[in-house]
Amino acid sequence: MADQARNVAILGSTGSIGCRTLDVIRASGGRLCARALTAHRRLDALVRQAVEHRPRWVIATDERLASAHDWRGLPAGTDLLVGADRLPEVVQHAEIEVVVAAIVGSAGLTGTWAATEAGKTVALANKETLVVAGPLVMELARRQGATILPIDSEHSAVFQCLQAGRRQDVRRLILTASGGPFREHSIEQLARVTVPEALAHPTWQMGPKITVDSATMMNKALEVIEARWLFDMRADQVDVVIHPQSVVHSMVEFRDGSVVAQMSPPDMRLPIQYALTYPERWDSTYTQLDITRPWCLEFFPVDLERFPALTLGLEVARRGGTTGAVLNAANEAAVARFLAGQLGFHEIVPACQSVLQHHDFDPTPSLAELWRLDAWAREEVSRWVCP
Ligand code: NAD
Ligand code: MG
Repeated sequence: MADQARNVAILGSTGSIGCRTLDVIRASGGRLCARALTAHRRLDALVRQAVEHRPRWVIATDERLASAHDWRGLPAGTDLLVGADRLPEVVQHAEIEVVVAAIVGSAGLTGTWAATEAGKTVALANKETLVVAGPLVMELARRQGATILPIDSEHSAVFQCLQAGRRQDVRRLILTASGGPFREHSIEQLARVTVPEALAHPTWQMGPKITVDSATMMNKALEVIEARWLFDMRADQVDVVIHPQSVVHSMVEFRDGSVVAQMSPPDMRLPIQYALTYPERWDSTYTQLDITRPWCLEFFPVDLERFPALTLGLEVARRGGTTGAVLNAANEAAVARFLAGQLGFHEIVPACQSVLQHHDFDPTPSLAELWRLDAWAREEVSRWVCP
């Protein structure tokens, strides 16, 4: 069995998506194999994962932490590589078939880019890759014959719904949003949100950055941009609806008005497994929908006044160019400042908006220019004070 296994590299294996991916690999009965694992900070967890999965490579991307770490627990047969610049050679290695992009933030772009350049199958959780450089990454994938399959639950849902019809018959995509923990908060209550409150999401267990993004609804803004590039839609073809139960993961409306939805209990292992087995579907042991009990699904429009992040997302999806890289980096820096107690919850989106308004817009930037703006936007947010 083992010699037929699909070889998987997991970039960011110690994170929420990385750990769920290893759950899927563990449950695959040898049909999937973790050949490469990477981590930034939790190096003990990386060693434990290596002991269980016996990958050929582990990469510790933070060089300073890696050099201070005791690596004696690493199993024989696993090579240790240090530094983010070692990601490309591993993801491009002939042995690797699928690359799970599960690093958080624009730091995930390097590995995703390298995998795409080598024509691999990329199972994409790192939505920031497409927010920062959507047109460049999709063009690279076309040129190199790479396949990008979504892990993000909404995009996995859209990807599944699109299989019900022809692309030219799609009218619009409808992304669902849980609305996060503050769905019913007033503007005054939003101004008083604390870090522990923002880190407690009602339906999903996720890393800290995306949990805060879900609370501000910046996550949905980033997902609108991700959907625009991944599915080659116009910005006005991507809509968002609040759906607190997180059972309908998204929908596609066709030109005749028929709407196809994908439903399942909120569990990231399902979209991860689908991305790793596509076009096949495998059995799963995860919680299934129980329709023997009374249940109800609710849908509400988004309140853009209380959640202005979405307006920024729609603007960026419309303008493209350098706006995605600037919005993403500004948001990463603002969330970091919020988590450090330096910025109010309600200041995250205004900080992003201010930096977005003041940047030098370029409609067709190079990758190098996007990286320059990523650094610039972080610097701007580090100095930003609420007017
Ligand atoms: P996380 O914080 O739990 O894990 C992040 C991983 O990236 C860790 O392995 C960490 O070591 C690594 N990492 C962090 N900074 C790094 C850097 N500078 N360089 C290299 N590696 C670094 O995050 P997560 O919740 O697993 O999210 C990962 C990605 O998946 C994000 O882009 C997120 O938007 C996306 N996503 C997550 C979920 C979810 O349910 N958690 C759902 C959809 C999409
Ligand atoms: Mg999502």
